[in-house]
Amino acid sequence: MRLVLLGAPGAGKGTQCKSIVDRYNLLHLSSGDILRRERAAGTELGKKAQQYMDSGGLVPDEIIIEMMAEAIKKAPRAGFILDGFPRTVNQAAALDNALEADGREIDAVLNLQIDDQVVAGRMTGRRSCPTCGAVYHIENLKPKRAGLCDHDGTELVQRPDDSPEVVANRLETYHQQTEPLVDYYKNNGTVYDFDADRDPEDVRASIFEKLDALVRA
Ligand code: AMP
Repeated sequence: MRLVLLGAPGAGKGTQCKSIVDRYNLLHLSSGDILRRERAAGTELGKKAQQYMDSGGLVPDEIIIEMMAEAIKKAPRAGFILDGFPRTVNQAAALDNALEADGREIDAVLNLQIDDQVVAGRMTGRRSCPTCGAVYHIENLKPKRAGLCDHDGTELVQRPDDSPEVVANRLETYHQQTEPLVDYYKNNGTVYDFDADRDPEDVRASIFEKLDALVRA
């Protein structure tokens, strides 16, 4: 099963992806995670991406398309879920071409729907541990000791792209460049919409229901 997960930043794509990959044994391909790893490793690609990521804009298509084409080429034929890619119609067309050349295609697109105000609250309250990567929230998922990681006691930090100005910019970028993809995919294949302003367990149950049916079909 080859899936694309769409949704505004902060809609819960990462959380849902974890459950989906476990249940259906898929490879999780997150463009944001790959970029963050490249940055942490100090590669040329990471350096190029840095300024775009920190401002809330998109890394140019040609960089991302090449990076993700590599990752997809290495993915097992049977299954993966793309998270954070594609993010522009141009990227989606490049993805379709790359898969088609290889006799593959996207089976379904999962679209997490949520209001801007809700995601802005989720993202600006997010804190993470620079040591182990654990993620917390100042209201919804507090660490046991304020500001410190439960696992290793490291001081928690806010990702630069979770600051209020950058979040506003990321949401605008999403509406302008990524939201048109929902129509692109509705014209080209199967899109399942999910209300993401619910308990993550409920969102997960709705997703599993659709995907179980797809697997059985
Ligand atoms: P994410 O963790 O998916 O929200 O990605 C973090 C940042 O990485 C984004 O705000 C973009 O700057 C960049 N990024 C991730 N995926 C893409 C993509 N498909 N196209 C362009 N930029 C991307």
